[in-house]
Amino acid sequence: THFGFETVAEELKASKVRTVFSSVASSYDTMNDLMSLGIHRLWKDHFVRSLNPGIRPTPPPPRPPPPPPQSQRILDIAGGTGDIAFRLLDHATTTNRDPHTSVLISDINPQMLAEGRKRCLSTPYHATNRVSFLEANAEDLSAIESSSIDLYTVAFGIRNFTHKATALREAYRVLKPGGVFACLEFTPNLANPVLNALYKRWSFGAIPLIGQLVAGDRESYQYLVESIEKFPSQREFAAMVRETGFLVPGDAEGGGWEDLSMGIAAVHKGVKP
Ligand code: SAM
Repeated sequence: THFGFETVAEELKASKVRTVFSSVASSYDTMNDLMSLGIHRLWKDHFVRSLNPGIRPTPPPPRPPPPPPQSQRILDIAGGTGDIAFRLLDHATTTNRDPHTSVLISDINPQMLAEGRKRCLSTPYHATNRVSFLEANAEDLSAIESSSIDLYTVAFGIRNFTHKATALREAYRVLKPGGVFACLEFTPNLANPVLNALYKRWSFGAIPLIGQLVAGDRESYQYLVESIEKFPSQREFAAMVRETGFLVPGDAEGGGWEDLSMGIAAVHKGVKP
């Protein structure tokens, strides 16, 4: 704004996000289970299955020479401890028998990435070139070449970004034509008002309390709950994805997203034309 208030508020938000995730990094995976009663695992599994990483086009009839195996280059933004990335690789490997697809796990926070690196050591991917890490702000992916990524995923991350439209533009830039943007995120409100009231009571009452009791950090979990309230509705976010230039599946029918667990979370996808 004229007086620079906006800049100050944005800087405050960015530094708050930094402090929160540095503080929750070591208890992040346990807290996710407690806060969502384990349901985040189902959402993530569903998200990954719906993306079907590692799927390859049907090979042409076996006439020599056989085509070289194609694999995907996936970018998992706000990848934190790698919870989505390792699921993507497991799916590609076991369901699609694709031993080549790789994931670049990117996050702004070095502590979260350190947890991801630690976790990687106990996966079958640690000594391979299928996982790599990049410390970067989702709003500036200049370390990544344009049109080089097949699948861009962001799970429970985008609501923390200061400039969501800038991050979407960067997603568009790094994706190849035909590449897919996929976002899993909480929604600010459930359509059913009674469930919405119950859900708000759980998130504003129980989550900061669990944060205090288990992680000794009420404030960070209070922030995480409040950031969900401020995130755009499914319709608004689908419009942002479309305005970036992505083709949004289901758009023509007035939708463009998939609600999970009665709309507590939602999946948005976009295809770069
Ligand atoms: N995707 C993981 C998952 O689903 O378990 C981690 C999600 S965690 C709630 C959110 C992550 O977003 C944190 O690791 C945080 O550091 C990261 N983050 C916040 N702002 C970011 C930004 N501007 N650019 C990249 N990552 C960011």
